[in-house]
Amino acid sequence: MIRIIGGGLAGCEAAWQAARRGVRVTLHEMRPSTPTAVHHTDGLAELVCSNSFRGDKLDNAVGLLKEEMRRLDSLILAMAESTRVPAGAALAVDREQFSRAVTAAVESHPLINVVRGEVTAIPDATPADPVILATGPLTSPALSAEIVRLVGREHLAFYDAISPIVLAESIDRSIVFRASRWDRSFRGEGAAEPAGPACGVDDGQGDYLNCPLSKSDYDAFYDALAGAESATVHDFDTATFFEGCLPIEVMAHRGRDTLRFGPMKPVGLTDPRTGRFPYAAVQLRQDTLAGDHFSLVGFQTQLKWGEQARVLRMIPGLAQAEFVRFGMVHRNTFINGPTVLEDTWQVRGRPGLYFAGQVSGVEGYVESAASGLAAGMSAACAALGQTFVPPPRTTALGALGFYVSHADPSTYQPTNITFGIMEALPNPPRGRVERKTAVSMRALSDLEQWRQAQD
Ligand SMILES: Cc1cc2nc3c(=O)[nH]c(=O)nc-3n(C[C@H](O)[C@H](O)[C@H](O)COP(=O)(O)OP(=O)(O)OC[C@H]3O[C@@H](n4cnc5c(N)ncnc54)[C@H](O)[C@@H]3O)c2cc1C
Repeated sequence: MIRIIGGGLAGCEAAWQAARRGVRVTLHEMRPSTPTAVHHTDGLAELVCSNSFRGDKLDNAVGLLKEEMRRLDSLILAMAESTRVPAGAALAVDREQFSRAVTAAVESHPLINVVRGEVTAIPDATPADPVILATGPLTSPALSAEIVRLVGREHLAFYDAISPIVLAESIDRSIVFRASRWDRSFRGEGAAEPAGPACGVDDGQGDYLNCPLSKSDYDAFYDALAGAESATVHDFDTATFFEGCLPIEVMAHRGRDTLRFGPMKPVGLTDPRTGRFPYAAVQLRQDTLAGDHFSLVGFQTQLKWGEQARVLRMIPGLAQAEFVRFGMVHRNTFINGPTVLEDTWQVRGRPGLYFAGQVSGVEGYVESAASGLAAGMSAACAALGQTFVPPPRTTALGALGFYVSHADPSTYQPTNITFGIMEALPNPPRGRVERKTAVSMRALSDLEQWRQAQD
């Protein structure tokens, strides 16, 4: 039997992968009896910030990783597809329906037993009875202390921040306009790879509401933002944020135009009333299937809630905005993967003990679920007395496992999947898109060979 601690994206995917190989699983989830600072429900696989699983095409790395997961019968991907909402070239979901679907699938599986309650000590693990720690960036303090004892060094911690969500009916439709950047839509060809950040800019193209700002609107907004009061971390120089998820006020402190080249980038967004790009723009992405909530794309923030309402209502179209959720800052807990893990996601020198998800040192919903998939397969092999050979580094899944276990530990930061951490092609085609697509084609072919050898 496998014990999995944490019923998030990684834990649920790991449980599913083990169970579909015929291995019995006990999945421990501490909510609702022990809450976290950012989860709101008792549902498994709750998405705590964006509702997007990012780009979904084979010329971007996260699109490839998702395709690999689909081919390995990922639960998270199947449930995401079934609760999909329009989001340009991205895969975005109705967060409540998604969590409910995952919860129902896991709870009704005959080989998975879900146990509610906090686990405060790391259970004994052996190859026959493996344990997977998948407790996420908000691992409870008691278990965090145990993990510190296990890995023999302090956790690294940095801050991350989440975006506000507004009620759709409170958006002024006479001011905002619906447009895709460069007119690309979900089915459209040639949509570019999102520029990396999980919470950041242009996360998929199309299906967005856009708030246009003139220069004077932008100047007034910038001045208000730069002078607004933050809730928690005041010291912008010493607080460590994941670069892809910087709070807007931190970006504002880097320079007057930083936001105009970041989440308020106007290029490619033609305002139908002027026929031109505005001076700056704020994009709103649909957050629920019913279309009643919209999130401010790339607008993660740690401003005090009163200050958020005051400053964000200066954005044209949001003067009367009602906030369903304000942005906030959170702590992110993760181990230094390269000093702790093998590329099988097993702890070095501790057969039967595994890490998966954000706590293992990956970054993002898809990457967390992917690591759960690999760790679940790996632990199931151990429980069945089989040898797990990790996927090749030419695949996105294999590259992620290799990065987590082999990157430079002295400068280690959790990573999103990128083509940069995958093995380069010996003779790459010339064009950027052609090169990325060729890497993806090789990956899918190698994944298929690996899968057949693994079965
Ligand atoms: C506030 C915030 C915003 C984020 N925003 C994004 C985003 O927009 N896009 C993105 O791609 N990624 C985002 N991430 C990063 C990451 O992708 C998510 O945290 C993702 O949910 C990680 O998946 P996971 O399975 O590792 O952890 P989680 O989904 O957090 O699951 C871990 C589970 O373990 C449980 N748990 C913790 N300790 C214990 C214990 N001792 N005993 C039993 N259960 C326990 C928790 O209750 C939780 O349900 C964000 C992270 C945070 C914290």
